[in-house]
Amino acid sequence: EALERIEALEPKLHSFLCVTADRAIEQAMAVDAKIAAGEEIGLLAGIPIAIKDNMCTKGIRTTCGSRILENFVPPYESTVTQKLMDAGAVMVGKTNMDEFAMGSSTETSAYQLTANPWDLERVPGGSSGGSAAAVAGGECLVSLGSDTGGSIRQPASFCGVVGLKPTYGLVSRFGLVAYASSLDQIGPFGTTVEDTAIFLGAIAGYDPKDSTSLNVQIPDYAKNLKPNLKTRGVLRVGVISETFGQGLDPAVEKAVTKAIEVLQELGAEIHVISCPRFRYGLPTYYIIAPSEASANLARYDGVKYGLRTTDADNLLTMYTQTRAAGFGTEVKRRIMLGTYALSAGYYDAYYLKAQKVRTLIKQDFESAFEKVDVLVCPTAPTTAFKAGEKTEDPLSMYLSDLMTIPVNLAGLPGLNVPCGFDEKGLPIGMQLIGNLLREDQLFHVAYAYE
Ligand code: GLN
Repeated sequence: EALERIEALEPKLHSFLCVTADRAIEQAMAVDAKIAAGEEIGLLAGIPIAIKDNMCTKGIRTTCGSRILENFVPPYESTVTQKLMDAGAVMVGKTNMDEFAMGSSTETSAYQLTANPWDLERVPGGSSGGSAAAVAGGECLVSLGSDTGGSIRQPASFCGVVGLKPTYGLVSRFGLVAYASSLDQIGPFGTTVEDTAIFLGAIAGYDPKDSTSLNVQIPDYAKNLKPNLKTRGVLRVGVISETFGQGLDPAVEKAVTKAIEVLQELGAEIHVISCPRFRYGLPTYYIIAPSEASANLARYDGVKYGLRTTDADNLLTMYTQTRAAGFGTEVKRRIMLGTYALSAGYYDAYYLKAQKVRTLIKQDFESAFEKVDVLVCPTAPTTAFKAGEKTEDPLSMYLSDLMTIPVNLAGLPGLNVPCGFDEKGLPIGMQLIGNLLREDQLFHVAYAYE
């Protein structure tokens, strides 16, 4: 069914960079054979899933949305995709994304534009736009994305699906192509909170292959879902005051305010919380993320992976020509920004300063979580915008992640829950932010709300 749906919709949506139909049918038949033989099947047996194209899949091309990895076929499997395969999931394909996960609309992909299933002229958000559109369009049941500054939550919000950025370290990054290593985290998309919770359970857990992986007990997220918000006593929800007002689309403000009222009706205690340093998240991120990216992307030199230009007559020219031809504009912009911020004489003024502000942002969250259990705000300031609308103006594009970025800087979990539509019929999302490793609480609130 998923493959049929892909065949029907892909000419319009372009969510996938590659569809692995033959392999999917083979995997599905292997599940059937197991059932017929009375063997035990995994938790996700036969579930059609899609994977963002920045997670390595052994023997299947992994491009990261970039020309520089156009012909890169990983010789190994990422931990997350291995876990999903072990649980019996059936991968139907790899999804489109902004090049190296740098973007908010999936338009920086070197290959194709992905359409928003709710309005084909609009973007699906990004950078995990393909994964969000694939779930929203019914081309798979659940999918994986990665989120460095909002790349799961913002496209989930634009496409009207559930999307979670887990606590930093909860899900292994082994086999995830690195963008900004201290912020990157893999997470699930689903159409319901329950699906998303089940999917997180399947990918979370300690991995010795990732040095930042947390060695913690993983709760049964799905089993603990209860429709009544009050089953765990009074739940205190903090509304981040700085996220309302200027720059916020009135339709988004209205829908999120309404959703907060619903939470109150369900029995939550609503508090207004100030995170005064929240607004420094964006400038802080645009120092830290490009800095880390400039180091991580140094490995694409034409020697180890993918593309290599052939007409250079010496090594240095080969490096520069390969990188000039292989990287797109946004990636080059960030490599230059990051290289500059890290250069001798500027390190203290930019990178070190940004790290200090990062600590202050974290402290705002810490004091908020002394007063409340969960924080709430809009996921994005607007609903999905038209393709091409922001491509010429990177700063307006960067503003899409105003409300999601601080969560990555603090390493916290953040969940997008659909909460209505604007006057054009485009989905709106609210973001629930939890304390470290309190994904269970986010699911609890979202499930009661849903
Ligand atoms: N949109 C943000 C950026 O362009 C966040 C991307 C992400 O989370 N990978 O960097």
